[in-house]
Amino acid sequence: MQAWPLERKIRVTQTRIIEWYLHYNGKVAVSFSGGVDSTVLLDLARRIYPHLGAVFVNTTMEFPEIISFVKSFENVTILRPKTTYTKVIQDYGYPVISKEISNYIYRMTTYEGCMEAYDNQIHLKSAEWLRENFSDIPFSFLKCMLGFSKETADRFLQTGIMPKSKFCIPKQWHYLVKAPFKINDRCCYHLKKAPVNKYSRETDNKLIVGTMAEESLLRRQIWLKQGCNAFNATEPKSTPLSFWTTQDILQYLKLTKIPYCSLYGDIITMPDGKLKFSGYQRTGCAGCLYGCHFDEEPNRIQMLNITHPAIYKYLFEKLDYGTVCDFIGIPY
Ligand code: SF4
Repeated sequence: MQAWPLERKIRVTQTRIIEWYLHYNGKVAVSFSGGVDSTVLLDLARRIYPHLGAVFVNTTMEFPEIISFVKSFENVTILRPKTTYTKVIQDYGYPVISKEISNYIYRMTTYEGCMEAYDNQIHLKSAEWLRENFSDIPFSFLKCMLGFSKETADRFLQTGIMPKSKFCIPKQWHYLVKAPFKINDRCCYHLKKAPVNKYSRETDNKLIVGTMAEESLLRRQIWLKQGCNAFNATEPKSTPLSFWTTQDILQYLKLTKIPYCSLYGDIITMPDGKLKFSGYQRTGCAGCLYGCHFDEEPNRIQMLNITHPAIYKYLFEKLDYGTVCDFIGIPY
């Protein structure tokens, strides 16, 4: 599906939106972050249902351009979380590398026995040793460091073959469990999910979200399991852009010429024919470090220093971003 031409993707996505809308008798809304993915989603949905509502959460670390852009739309409910970005970082930790990896690191550093096992270098021991001592090792350690699941653990105990899961901390990031600051993935829950879930419960609106499978392994797995419209999930959710790629989003913007947030700049064609924004490649919270280690220079933090020096100053002076960037090796 990811290889389909854009026209076909548009038709299928709009069909999924219609199915979702009809299933819930119109009690649905678009989750709108002001970024390009949800801008495209909102446009596709409102071409069918012009008065469809949207919901935006101001995470308290939004770019001002995003807030103005969101306010330029009609029928958007603006929510605020109970807490702030600063408080979440201070209480829980920094969002670094990726959602999955920061969650594993959080588990490693807080779940009983995991750090002791790390200090004893248990992840470096042989498969035979692990098999013999399996029941003495905290399962969270086996999961986060070596990618064991309940099923692969049974298979390992029978055959001695180590699991080859990508759902664990890759070797290059093992050292982060010793970071001199807290690492966590809770920001998304407290700053986005909790307010949106509350809105969804109170209004009974079922959400349409602009996430794509290409963004992470976890999203890909969930999509493969549930499809675009997860009617039977604990929290029913529609993700009708799941099979789109970033290139499709750029192509759609180019084709339709719909307005998008000024932070992204223009759409430019690279020598290899791929499209790219001339400004920020992604938005979200101004201090979000997910994927920042992949950014070409100037990376998003270096750009922040140029475009929004007051936010940059705040992150480095009040939230000690220098320590985090130095430890991970993110230039700033
Ligand atoms: S954009 Fe990044 S920092 Fe903000 S809530 Fe989402 S994951 Fe956390």
